[in-house]
Amino acid sequence: MSEASANGLKTFGRMMNEVVALGSCCGCSMCVVTCPYGVIKYDSQSMFPYVAKPKGDFDYCPISEEVGCDVCANACERLGPEHMKPIKPEEIDVRVFGRERREDEYYGVTRFICAARSTNPNVVANSEDGGAVTEILKCAFEDGIIDGAAVASPSSEMWLKPVPRVVKSVDEIMETAKSWYTYCETPLALKEAVDKHKLSKLALVGVSCEVSGYATTVGADTGFIAKERGDKNVERQNKHLKQYVDAVQLTIGLLCTETFVLDGFIYEYLQEKEGINPQDVVKVNVKGKVVTDIKDGTRIETPLIEARVYQRHQCNYCGDFSAEHADISAGGVGSDGWTILIIRSERGERIFKRTIEKGYLEVRPSSEFERSMRVLKRLTETQRKRADEQYISIGSSRR
Ligand SMILES: Cc1cc2nc3c(=O)[nH]c(=O)nc-3n(C[C@H](O)[C@H](O)[C@H](O)COP(=O)(O)OP(=O)(O)OC[C@H]3O[C@@H](n4cnc5c(N)ncnc54)[C@H](O)[C@@H]3O)c2cc1C
Ligand code: SF4
Ligand code: SF4
Ligand code: SF4
Repeated sequence: MSEASANGLKTFGRMMNEVVALGSCCGCSMCVVTCPYGVIKYDSQSMFPYVAKPKGDFDYCPISEEVGCDVCANACERLGPEHMKPIKPEEIDVRVFGRERREDEYYGVTRFICAARSTNPNVVANSEDGGAVTEILKCAFEDGIIDGAAVASPSSEMWLKPVPRVVKSVDEIMETAKSWYTYCETPLALKEAVDKHKLSKLALVGVSCEVSGYATTVGADTGFIAKERGDKNVERQNKHLKQYVDAVQLTIGLLCTETFVLDGFIYEYLQEKEGINPQDVVKVNVKGKVVTDIKDGTRIETPLIEARVYQRHQCNYCGDFSAEHADISAGGVGSDGWTILIIRSERGERIFKRTIEKGYLEVRPSSEFERSMRVLKRLTETQRKRADEQYISIGSSRR
């Protein structure tokens, strides 16, 4: 155990060893977003951060060692104060909701759960489940709550390969609906929105680990930036960290059990095993099986168990199925054409209610979706257990 680890300090060296090298790094990219000196970059192939111009070993950052910084490590949700343990979800609760979850809040801090669907059939047809995420974003735009959103989008190469994208209009939101089951580091779009587009009112849409990654930076204790290292440095580092935190006005978390390795999923699974031409795919949904929609209107259902071979190993460290730190969490959980929403924060509730008021969403109580509620409970349990077992297998524990 390093000295920093023994002291509970979160340092760049610890993050690179105990998270990246260990393999628990989910690839959320928050460390890259928050690095004030551009030392680390993101490798979109491996989905790991790396030192762009190394001057030593992979775990050496001269600014961490010589000037003092470690903003990245304090923004990393997979790095807790204890050796090889992630930050506790309850600690992140306090940062974003101002309190820990109560015992009766099985899915994390919750105001209410319901099912929602767009009142516009075109939106439903063009989205993943009920189109609720698209409608909420649209409403937030129209009301001036946000001036941009960090989302996933099809790449120019093919629909199946997602890239992070900053959307700045309702039309762009419509173009970026549906789900990609390979990882898409949407926090990098947050960085682009602030750095390049100078936007200051943003929504972040991402899978659980991305939203929890962002949530980790909220209220991150900047006391780690030692005063003796110079006021100028401290100020720069604080300011850099806060600009991304403060810009986000809404987080929408997508319920998530896993993402797949890009090439394995597209070429080995869909193309070679299932005989699907990746260029023809226009939508993928996972509902106990993999449901793939093709350009010509056909729908192909294939076994999820075979796709699971291509699950990213990093996901085994993830115990957060229901995006526990989002303002609003959204998932399909076995519903047909509806989005199940967990409304968690006051601002999430406000925007959601406004979307209904504008007539964009129809809503039904969760009691009418018994099956979905059972799936939500089961997947939450399974995922927490999976993460617990994974941490035990490396001689540590998650909690
Ligand atoms: C990788 C992944 C795994 C998921 N696993 C589950 C699951 O196991 N169980 C479950 O109930 N629900 C799961 N979901 C959520 C589900 O697929 C829908 O996103 C959710 O129900 C919202 O549907 P909607 O019609 O309201 O969203 P839409 O209106 O279609 O909007 C979806 C939004 O999500 C963004 N997005 C799409 N893919 C990604 C991505 N990879 N990373 C970041 N943002 C993205 C889009 O840009 C868009 O803004 C998963 C989603 C993803 C992306
Ligand atoms: S320690 Fe500071 S400078 Fe070094 S990678 Fe982390 S955030 Fe960047
Ligand atoms: S912040 Fe995210 S991408 Fe960076 S090391 Fe931690 S888990 Fe990995
Ligand atoms: S299972 Fe967890 S770590 Fe894996 S992509 Fe989903 S939210 Fe991220």
